[in-house]
Amino acid sequence: MALSRGLRCCQRIFSWIPVVIISSVVLWSYYAYVFELCLFTLSNNLEKVLYLLVFHVCFVMFCWTYWKAIFTPPSSPSKKFQLSYTDKERYEMEERPEMQKQILVDIAKKLPVFTRAASGAIRFCDRCQLIKPDRCHHCSVCETCVLKMDHHCPWVNNCVGFSNYKFFLLFLLYSMLYCVFIASTVFQYFLKFWVGELPNGPAKFHVLFLLFVALMFFVSLMFLFGYHCWLVAKNRSTLEAFSAPVFQNGPDRNGFNIGLHGNLQQVFGDNKKLWFVPLFTSLGDGHYFPMRSVCESQNPLLADEEKWGEECGSDEEGSDGLCDPSVTIEIES
Ligand SMILES: [Zn+2]
Ligand SMILES: [Zn+2]
Repeated sequence: MALSRGLRCCQRIFSWIPVVIISSVVLWSYYAYVFELCLFTLSNNLEKVLYLLVFHVCFVMFCWTYWKAIFTPPSSPSKKFQLSYTDKERYEMEERPEMQKQILVDIAKKLPVFTRAASGAIRFCDRCQLIKPDRCHHCSVCETCVLKMDHHCPWVNNCVGFSNYKFFLLFLLYSMLYCVFIASTVFQYFLKFWVGELPNGPAKFHVLFLLFVALMFFVSLMFLFGYHCWLVAKNRSTLEAFSAPVFQNGPDRNGFNIGLHGNLQQVFGDNKKLWFVPLFTSLGDGHYFPMRSVCESQNPLLADEEKWGEECGSDEEGSDGLCDPSVTIEIES
């Protein structure tokens, strides 16, 4: 017991290593750019002020989004999705798997759950003892079910999901901008040092490494950011890109794809002014997501139509009337 607790404690400490590495590189880049390049090397005052100003804007946005991606806790399903004491007792007492499945189906009738396990059964988490909402997955690192889980990211030592996906995307964007700005402004000084126009000194090595590190990070971030832009455009999580969500009609990769504008709004919100600001503006509560072709009122699983009808109405704005039963969109099979 004490050993496993000790191991878990060590694991928790070690999991911060990637964050410490990134933070150290960023702190060094701050010193190298601000002191070695701008203050010790640049002679033109206008250039100095301009570089420092833009650099600090990129730096602050990078730090803000990185902080939010790391320290926004992943959101877990609400109590409604947990089995009540009596349901739990009924479920555990039942020995026939078929009947257990039926018990879950009965409970899920009261919930806005549209996706299924590959076998067609209601998705149930044994460890958290709850019915998984659509797009929710259990993270074995965080040891909890995470709403709209995307992936567990070691570089932010956090689960990327409904609560912080926007912050994660902005973190990728601002890190890229930070790298691009450094690389593009440092390049000419790198050349000047190279041809001997500027004197040899510690600044030469800082400038050389700044360019090298900024380009290296930029290239790797570009691929990751490009991939996530594609995911956002298609309204898929990383997990869903690998394994399509299963609906009553079967798996459908585009099940949550409600069109580019709607998909962007799902993550960034309906106020465009706040899209690039690291404040939480994603639509919904992470338990229910508008779908391309299924409306609650058409879904036989939802007995309590009135209760969820309200939510249907509120989602309608963001989903271009997809909840309207008169809107028919064919499902690709
Ligand atoms: Zn779980
Ligand atoms: Zn996790």
